Amino acid sequence: MKTFTLDEILTLYKKKDPTELFKAAWDTTTANHGESVYLRGLVEFTNKCVINCQYCGIRRDNKNVNRYSLESETIVDVCLDGFNKGLRTFVLQGGEDRDISVKDICQTVKDIKRKTDNEAAITLSFGSRTLDEYKLMKDSGVDRYLLRFETSDQELYYRLRGMPLADRLKNLEDIRTAGLQVGSGYMTGLPGESEETRINNALLSRDLELDMVGIGPFIPSDETPLAGSVQEPIDYAIKGTALLRLLLPKAHIPATTAAGSLKPTGREDMIKAGANVLMPNLTPVSVKKDYLLYPGKICLDETGTQCIGCMSMRVKSVGRKINFSRADALRLMNGKI
Ligand code: SF4
Repeated sequence: MKTFTLDEILTLYKKKDPTELFKAAWDTTTANHGESVYLRGLVEFTNKCVINCQYCGIRRDNKNVNRYSLESETIVDVCLDGFNKGLRTFVLQGGEDRDISVKDICQTVKDIKRKTDNEAAITLSFGSRTLDEYKLMKDSGVDRYLLRFETSDQELYYRLRGMPLADRLKNLEDIRTAGLQVGSGYMTGLPGESEETRINNALLSRDLELDMVGIGPFIPSDETPLAGSVQEPIDYAIKGTALLRLLLPKAHIPATTAAGSLKPTGREDMIKAGANVLMPNLTPVSVKKDYLLYPGKICLDETGTQCIGCMSMRVKSVGRKINFSRADALRLMNGKI
């Protein structure tokens, strides 16, 4: 399998015609992950958030959101239902809801683990937490934590989130220190972002040695201060996926829902550019429409089962195969984490 130097990767990335870049990314994915596209069941368990990110539809100051948080029993039942359908990885995702304690969500994770004989892998994602809290998660059976850094541009980060990027990076370091697999990611097409930013985003992901990393194209929401911003092309996210794949051959890279929302075949395009994960949305249909980080989000009326069926067809259409296994970080599987 050919490995690429940084110079070669950037030369490929900067070519006007991305055909060679995508081919290299596809081959690199096949060499490291085979034909598989792994499924991870997503449960959006709370849309409450104390943070006010400029780009986010469920930001604190958006009063036009019907706020919800799922009961622990509901989260467990949703995961068990997915488990019975074959899924072995679940991502419990929410805003920074300070009404739900880390202890409570850890208890929910313990219940899922017990009821699945410890077979299900759990990723948590609900904002910045302390090192002690990450350690508590690890001790409670949480396998992975997902915290996107959103942009590598310090000034842009501060403008969008009102806090320093360095704090976010320290969080990511703490997640690793606690022994959790580390997931992160960023947006492309943010107002004020440059091509240099997009390259630096991928280089930062490489430097952080992320186990999982995803790109979401920015989609402006009317309910945010960034309403009316230019919708940049999805190509940034697709080419970015290929760049990430070449820089991080072993990482798990999702084909994101935001890409599918911006373009009907956005997720297929991401898979063709090196993504190897899809996330069927298991969130109960009754609240799915209330977890709107951006407008035009797809699959709001579909059940988790329908999502799995749809994704299976999409994956087949690009010559890959659905895989239901846990898909831990490759370095964990090599015993090195
Ligand atoms: S992006 Fe996350 S932290 Fe920021 S407002 Fe939205 S839910 Fe809250």
